[in-house]
Amino acid sequence: MFPFATCAEPGCSALALSGSERCAAHLADRAAFTAARAAELAAGAGPIEDLDLSGLEFVGLSLEGRSFRGCRFAGSSFRNSSFAGAVLRLCFFDFASFDSCDLSGLDAQYCCFAGSTFHDVSFENSELVHNNFDGVSTQSCTFNYSNLYNSRFVRARFARTDFIDCNLKKAYFLLTSEEEVSWKYSNTQEAVRDPDRVVS
Ligand SMILES: [Zn+2]
Repeated sequence: MFPFATCAEPGCSALALSGSERCAAHLADRAAFTAARAAELAAGAGPIEDLDLSGLEFVGLSLEGRSFRGCRFAGSSFRNSSFAGAVLRLCFFDFASFDSCDLSGLDAQYCCFAGSTFHDVSFENSELVHNNFDGVSTQSCTFNYSNLYNSRFVRARFARTDFIDCNLKKAYFLLTSEEEVSWKYSNTQEAVRDPDRVVS
């Protein structure tokens, strides 16, 4: 799991980022730091583990097919970036934002995307099992042909987002708002959509 050392800035309780003694807000040159970390990630080929790169802005990052374990990107933003075919285990993307990104063919388990926003993002053909998508906001996104088994979308807001031919068994869609959403060919009867049906 990512280290839990706090930022060296006096009075700051945020976690320090990997490769620094400071959090994103207290980096001397955040753009240069982000560019250096992005270049390191893109140059490698092996698994990416125990990394905390929270609060950074990534543009054009391609990490297709890579494997991540115990990493944290809380509050980070990704634009025109790809995690297609990547494997994520126990990773934290809470309050992150994804704009025009390819997350298709993703294999994500025990990950947290709570409070994140997704615009023009594809999750097609993904294994999204045991993940937390509570409070997410999606616009022009697709989850088509994906397995959402036991993932949670409590208080999510979906706009122009499709869930065609998905496995929704034990997927929780409670108190959601939906605008132009298609559930065609998905087993909606096996999803939990009624708060009175929630079992622990
Ligand atoms: Zn700090």
